[in-house]
Amino acid sequence: MDYRVLLYYKYTTIEDPETFATEHLDFCKDLELKGRILVSGEGINGTVSGTVAATDKYMETLKADPRFEGITFKVDEAEGHAFKKMHVRPRNEIVALDLEDDVNPNELTGKYLSPKEFKQALLDDDTIVIDARNDYEFDLGHFRGAVRPNITRFRDLPDWIKENKEQFMDKKIVTYCTGGIRCEKFSGFLLKEGFEDVAQLEGGIATYGKDPEVQGELWDGKMYVFDERISVDVNHVEKTVVGKEWFDGTPCERYINCSNPECNKQILVSEENEARYLGACSHECAAHERNRYVKKHNISDVEKARRLENFNALVNQ
Ligand SMILES: [Zn+2]
Repeated sequence: MDYRVLLYYKYTTIEDPETFATEHLDFCKDLELKGRILVSGEGINGTVSGTVAATDKYMETLKADPRFEGITFKVDEAEGHAFKKMHVRPRNEIVALDLEDDVNPNELTGKYLSPKEFKQALLDDDTIVIDARNDYEFDLGHFRGAVRPNITRFRDLPDWIKENKEQFMDKKIVTYCTGGIRCEKFSGFLLKEGFEDVAQLEGGIATYGKDPEVQGELWDGKMYVFDERISVDVNHVEKTVVGKEWFDGTPCERYINCSNPECNKQILVSEENEARYLGACSHECAAHERNRYVKKHNISDVEKARRLENFNALVNQ
């Protein structure tokens, strides 16, 4: 393993995010890193891959910058790059929550729980554990007993909370996400909404999985990651599969994007069913004239029509 994947963020003031982004991109390119970094006036949010030497240099440089004092990096060993390109993009927010009344996590955020404290919260019947990620992330893996908000984008989470508020009011709330960044703002939003006892898993699932004491215990399935690896292990004590195949419901951890370029929905599909249903989530998507699976595999019109009929059998089941 000569490579690493880094995951990190820091809420901090960056005076001129546009200029910072341009200079930071040059710095990353010099180190031959690849990945995606968002910067804004409120901080930095990144995930990059590179050689051990390059990632060391990158981490040292950020840690030495007073703006990023105290930044923590989640480090995964890897066999190669986990991204194809290097992007550093200026944005309004480093994670888009689009609150009308924005929250600064340096001023308002939930209590931080260590992995050990979080594990205790998972076992406590009086605590509600809310997964702050999207539905497709939850479906591949999640903490045992966690609440699954029915959202496909983080910015829909506040509305989902407002609609389901009665279920959680007067309860202890604990939130978690991949690396911790989403919970920083989300837990602040919960406090603003009037929830009184709000905590978050510090460093997110990524940290929990690496903690020598808890070793990812009480996590089921895999953790979705936003790079070419798609998923990584968390629970090193006990392995389970919670993902369910889109068509037949059998255990499955293989994500594909729907082959209709206008849909792109992420679905868990076996190799066999990908071929059978032309890599699509529905008959409508499979029949789409720009179906990527059909193009990639040079499937003839006759064969396409034959495979589309497979959907009829599904409906009749
Ligand atoms: Zn689709």
